[in-house]
Amino acid sequence: MGALRDFVSEVLEMEGSAIEAIEPDGLEVLAPEPLRAVMGWPELVRLGFGAELPAGSTAVGFEGDWLDRFGALLGDRGRWAERQLALPGAAPRIHFPERLLDHALDFPNAVWRLQEVSAGWTRCLLLAFRYTAVSDEKREGLVWLGFNQGTGAVIDDFAPRLRELLAGDADWQAPDPEVRKAAGPAWDAPVLDRRVQPLLQHRVRLEVEPFLRTMRRRLDRDRNRIHQYHGDLHVLAQRKLAALAGSTGEKADNDRKRETLRIATIEREYAAKLGDLRHNYALRVSVEWVQGLELFVPVQRFQVLVKRRKGEKLIHLDWHPSVRLMEPPPSDWGLGITRSRLVCDEQLHITDPGGQSPCPSCGKAWCRACHPTACRRCGQATT
Ligand SMILES: [Zn+2]
Ligand SMILES: [Zn+2]
Repeated sequence: MGALRDFVSEVLEMEGSAIEAIEPDGLEVLAPEPLRAVMGWPELVRLGFGAELPAGSTAVGFEGDWLDRFGALLGDRGRWAERQLALPGAAPRIHFPERLLDHALDFPNAVWRLQEVSAGWTRCLLLAFRYTAVSDEKREGLVWLGFNQGTGAVIDDFAPRLRELLAGDADWQAPDPEVRKAAGPAWDAPVLDRRVQPLLQHRVRLEVEPFLRTMRRRLDRDRNRIHQYHGDLHVLAQRKLAALAGSTGEKADNDRKRETLRIATIEREYAAKLGDLRHNYALRVSVEWVQGLELFVPVQRFQVLVKRRKGEKLIHLDWHPSVRLMEPPPSDWGLGITRSRLVCDEQLHITDPGGQSPCPSCGKAWCRACHPTACRRCGQATT
């Protein structure tokens, strides 16, 4: 419970409280007036975080609405921040830049040549989103996205390592003006939106997938049970009705009517039960942005000339000395999270392999970055 106690202690200190740690695993809080009113506390309050509570303390834990209440105190503070990452020593030298590129690049239909490597700064963007998936059960979680705004690369691969480095370094360094300038401009809202939406959708889908699978299993199980139960009733009623087929007279007529009604009722109930299931298992997923960090990091920028037939195009990739990793190349179409890229003939777009794949209808390959909505030859719409 140490992390929660530290968090609560920091939030309450920011709100002007005097805090003292007490044993076992507790805090004694001298709360100022506005905080007292918001939390409904007396001036002096004791909070306990462990299984064993200090005398006279209120238990605080992850359950209940404690996190929401402390979160409300924070408001919008801490949602957005800028930070500069400092390397512990001199930037490591790159001895074999081509070899690094060999691992980073895969251009099946083009060749490339390294032009230049230069040290500089870039702006990385780390964004956190909370998703909530609700059906018969609820699943919540966080998804982090990472981009290099200087090159356009997706850096999801090693963004967690960047975050770890930051968490391990207590000194919060605001970006120097010259670093900010060297790192270049941030993305504007339309670019941000265009880049975030598809990647976020992809990542949330991956996160929710195991939840969906178990949900489908429960749905199948319930559906089979309902099917079996009503199927048995139905067969029984049908048999009774069949047995009455040869009989005549008023009693037989009434029995027939009763069994016919029973069959109709069973069918109605079956349909209603299936409707209930559909309703219970309907999945609603909501996603909200919770936090963003603009991170200024030192990089080694690789300028690479990509050649396809008679055309050529310059691209940039950064090697990140802080994690000693090369980012994937930028992509004009697709998520850009893998390393393989194809180059189009028309405008030399660099796309994920799917961006140049054959049309499912006429079989001709075409560039989705040049023609995003439909196949040029047969007009088949992209899915
Ligand atoms: Zn086509
Ligand atoms: Zn193209």
